[in-house]
This record gives sequence, structure tokens and C-alpha cells, in this order.
Amino acid sequence: MQKYLDILKQYWGYDEFRSLQGDIIRSIASGKDTLGLMPTGGGKSLTFQVPTMAMEGLCIVVTPLIALMKDQVENLKKRGIAAAAIYSGMSHNSILMTLENSVFGAYKFLYVSPERLSTPIFIEKMKQATVCMIAVDESHCISQWGYDFRPSYLRIADIRELIPDVPVLALTATATPEVVDDIQKQLLFKKPNVFQKSFHRTNLAYVVRTVENKDENLLKILNNVPGTSVVYVRNRKRTKEVADFLNQNGIPAENFHAGLKNETKDAKQSRWMSGDTRVIVSTNAFGMGIDKAEVRTVVHMDLPDSLEAYFQEAGRAGRDEQKAYAVLLYNNGDAVKMRKRVSDSFPGKEMVVKVYEALGNYLQMGVGSGLDKVFAFDIADFCTKFKLPILISYNCLKILQQAGYIELTDEQDSSSRVLFTVGKDDLYKLKQNAEQEKLIHILLRSYTGLFTDLAPISEETIGKRLNWDRKKVYDQLVLLAKESIIQFIPRKKTPYLTFIREREATERVYLGKEAYDNRLERYISRIKSVLDYAQEENTCRCRMLLTYFGEKEIKPCGCCDICLKQKETQVSNDDFESIRGSIVQLLTLEPLTVNSVIRKLTVSEPKALQVIRFMMDNGQLEENELMRLKLK
Ligand code: ADP
Ligand code: MG
Repeated sequence: MQKYLDILKQYWGYDEFRSLQGDIIRSIASGKDTLGLMPTGGGKSLTFQVPTMAMEGLCIVVTPLIALMKDQVENLKKRGIAAAAIYSGMSHNSILMTLENSVFGAYKFLYVSPERLSTPIFIEKMKQATVCMIAVDESHCISQWGYDFRPSYLRIADIRELIPDVPVLALTATATPEVVDDIQKQLLFKKPNVFQKSFHRTNLAYVVRTVENKDENLLKILNNVPGTSVVYVRNRKRTKEVADFLNQNGIPAENFHAGLKNETKDAKQSRWMSGDTRVIVSTNAFGMGIDKAEVRTVVHMDLPDSLEAYFQEAGRAGRDEQKAYAVLLYNNGDAVKMRKRVSDSFPGKEMVVKVYEALGNYLQMGVGSGLDKVFAFDIADFCTKFKLPILISYNCLKILQQAGYIELTDEQDSSSRVLFTVGKDDLYKLKQNAEQEKLIHILLRSYTGLFTDLAPISEETIGKRLNWDRKKVYDQLVLLAKESIIQFIPRKKTPYLTFIREREATERVYLGKEAYDNRLERYISRIKSVLDYAQEENTCRCRMLLTYFGEKEIKPCGCCDICLKQKETQVSNDDFESIRGSIVQLLTLEPLTVNSVIRKLTVSEPKALQVIRFMMDNGQLEENELMRLKLK
């Protein structure tokens, strides 16, 4: 173990492993397929990064979140560790170059998004590379039973068969017992091997409040519990409304969602990290990869889609082990909204097929073609052109993804691309003005492959070299494109869509039980679990959540709203006798209504009620014909 501690110290500067990290590292380092379950922020990355540094060869890391992938690569590079990433949206050339470098042993880590795994070029190159480990982050994505199934994850098994002696380390923050089994099965574990610590967090109090006015209640919570907070809402518009409302009431808040510009997001995030903004009001886009220990409250204004998602988001509170609250605001309207969510999420099968057909036409792809083709995909444009409703269409695409037809990646900034459309020799024959000549010159000096493929370039870098501002570089590139000297694709933010199978003839698009009906059923059952959680009145919240994740014999936490309510109504023996004494005294004078008895006693209503109920059940009290209590 000393070897790993030394690596931990040398590259990360930490002195010791957290409890489960050591166990997982030992297991994977001895060549055993391993599944590690650790809560978000628990430190999963180090469990594959540290042992890889002690091994010969390359670690392939599969993860679906491209933004996080880029962060991790940057992070490793900062520590002097060679790493690279492959994902949809990169040019063919840079993918090829990255893969070739991997074969030469240029990197210790190669991050790959799942839809890239099955491409022939990736398979070819991985046969040649020396691979020491396959790490599968977010491994619950491989299970149909999970809440975030991605069929392209199933291709990891193919990679395994290609390099059978390489061990797999699967990681996830949430998995129900059936998902835990399924992950190991789908990843072809040689033997079951799971490391899991209880997910119980003693400092985190779960609370559900049934309230009519959620905004007012949020304000009350934030006024009662000082400190940093994350407030989750369902839609982007609401993020702004709630943040405005908080600001109007003197609580510094900002909104956040995936549709904001990256610069804006970064700025908002860092103001919240530094404490300038107390509250961030966000869709579920906020939180991944964010590591702030002292969050005091996480408030959900709307019901999440699953307890898995809820547990992850709520778990962002109190990482510093100090007291924190996870509050869910609920009212009866939510149950109806949940039903609507089901029908929005599962449009009829005909609709899904219609969207598939429109998609093929939109991307101008013939039946039988398109395998592994990647497109920058603008859903708004698609929906406008084909007169489709946007939310429903988006959900149809998700179903098509689940059914294994396509894969959608999250939005990402693509860099600008340039391809020279005239040959090198002709280029010098063309007459250009001095500015353009300079620009061409710098382009050719700064980048390779500009004559063969649309190559990524950076306006900033070019600008620095020429001493121009970005705008000028951009304008000149546009001019060159107008003169048909280059093809220029300005950078933009976009999700990518990959065809995992060639385009199917419309009448052959098949959404069978597995692809649709069973998923719908599981979606409903997940939603039901969320509703049960919100509506529960007697079981400890913590126990409900942990039981859902397969933990057994959980003692009541003692700090959720239900435990507190029960504590409040629990009457000690001494109290009981003195309350009973007072009731007897009151009722010897005259019969009284229940309410007057409660009013005349000096204890809380639940306590008084408990004693009254006991005395009635045990024949010490009865009601007269006017429903007044009297002694028996
Ligand atoms: P996860 O993937 O489980 O959500 P990460 O791997 O992103 O968590 O780690 C979360 C944070 O914890 C990171 O900032 C990481 O540097 C830190 N961390 C992980 N292991 C240790 C350790 N042994 N000692 C101190 N900090 C650690
Ligand atoms: Mg992680």
C-alpha cells in the first residue's frame, strides 16, 4: 500500500486515502474486476488514477459527461500526468492522432465517451495499445434497470472481449441492488466483487414540507438556516423567477441552467463558490463536478424524477460533516404534475417513429446509411423545420437513444474549424491583401492538417500571434471563406448526435417491450417511489432512502421531520403521569371538549392528544352525548 500512498502524495499532495478508496485500490490493483459504490464527492476518480500510475500502460476511462471529462484531463495534465480525451465533435484527424499517440504510450489516461467505443478505428487501435485497466465511471448507465440507461455503455463488453485480461473498475454513486447485480453482469465480471459503504449521512437531516406557497416557505427556510444553499427547480424559466424573488427579499441569489453561456456559467459558479452569492437556483444542470463542502441547505421546489437523482442532489449539502438540511417542498399539485411528466416523457410510439423519420430526413441520410455518423445537432432548428413540439421531440430522441438507435451527447463548446479548399500551390498564386496573407501564414504555421480535414483552430491563439483582437481574426476568416479559399465553421455550443445504427426504414423502426413498455413501467415505478417519499408520514426519511438503495436494518435517523415529529409526541413516563393528573383534575370539574382540554393543558398538542387517546383506549375516559370528554 505504501507504493500507492507515495503516488497519492507525489501527484495529489494528500496524505491518506479515505476509507473505501484503499480497499478499492487494493482490489483493482490485484487484477480483480471491482465495483465501487461511493457517494458523489467521495473520491472515486483517485481509485483508478492512483493504481494506474503504479502500472504499466494505459487506463481507458469511459464516462458520458464530456464537460467533466475535459475537466479531468486538464486536472491530470496540471499534475504532470499525460491524459487525453475522445468524444463526438472532435475532428476525425484529432481522434486518429489521439489514438495513435495512445498506441505509442503517450498517455496514462484516455477518456472516451461511450458512443465512440464501438467505432472500428477505436477498436483497431485499442488492440495495439497496452491497456492496464478499464475504468467505467457512472457505471449505472449500463443497466436497463437504472435511471440513466445508455445502450452505448453495453459496448464496453466488446472492448473487454478484445482485451480479456485487463481488469475493469466500475464506479457509481447510486445503484439499487438490482442495478449493482446488473452492472457486474453486463461488464462480464469474472467474479462478483463490490465495495460499498453505508450511504448514511448522520449530519444531513431530510425534511419534506407540504406547503401551498413554496416561495414563501423557501424564504422561511433560508431565513432560519444561514449559509450557502442550492435550490433546485424543474425548468429554466423558474430558475430566474425564484432567484429574482430571493433577491427582492434580501437574499443574494443567482440562477443557473445548461442553456447559459459557458462564461456566464463559470462566473456564476465562482461567485457562489467564493460565497459572494449565497444561493444558486438551478435546474439539475448544476452540481456535477462541483465540490463545495459547506452547503447548509439543498431545497427542491419540485419533485425529482427518481430517488436516485434526489439522493445525489440532496447529498450536496453538508459535505463538511456539519449539520445540513435537504428539504423537499411538496403540495398536492405535484402529484398531478408527475402524471403529466409521465405522458410527456413517453409520447406514443407513433410519435417516436415520426421523430426518427424526420431526423433522418433532416440530416439527409438515406435508409441503410449513417452508421457512426456524428452531427452537430440543433434541436430547435430541427423542430422548427419539421413543425414538431420541442419537449416531446426531445423525449422521443431520448427514447430512441434508449432503444439504441442514436446517442445524444451533452452540449459542448466546439472549437472553430478551418479547411483550405484550394491546394497549397494554388494558395500562393492567389492574390490576397496583406492582412489575409498574414492570417494564412499564421494558420499554416500554427496548425497541421488544414488541407485534409476541418481542423480545430483558436481565434484567440491566432489573435495573440498576430496582435489582432478576436473579432478581427473572425472577420478575416469570414472573408477568406467568402472568397472560397477556406471552409470556415465558427465555434458554437451544441450537442452532438451520433447514429449508433444505420438509418432504419421507417416501417422497420421497432419499439418493442424492452425499448418502450418496460421502460415506461420502470419510469412509473420510480416516480411512484418519489411520491411515496413525499407523502410518507410514519417512516424515517433516511430509512426510506437507504432501504431503496438496498441497505438493511436502518435505525431511525432521529433528525428528519418524521423522527422529530415522533420525538415531539413521545411522552416520557413522568410527563405522562403529570399530564394524566391534570386531565383528571380538569374533568372532575366538568366535561370538556377535546380542544378545551388541550387549551387548558400546558403541553404541546400532540402530547396531550397522545395521553387523551391512551386514556380513552384504556377505558379511563369517555365521550358524553355532546362529544365532551368525561371521566369514566
Ligand atoms: P467523485 O467522483 O466520487 O464524485 P471526486 O473523485 O471528484 O469524487 O473527488 C472529490 C474531491 O475529493 C476531489 O476534490 C478530490 O481531490 C478529493 N479527494 C479525493 N480523495 C481524497 C483524499 N484521499 N484526500 C483528500 N481529498 C481527496
Ligand atoms: Mg466522479
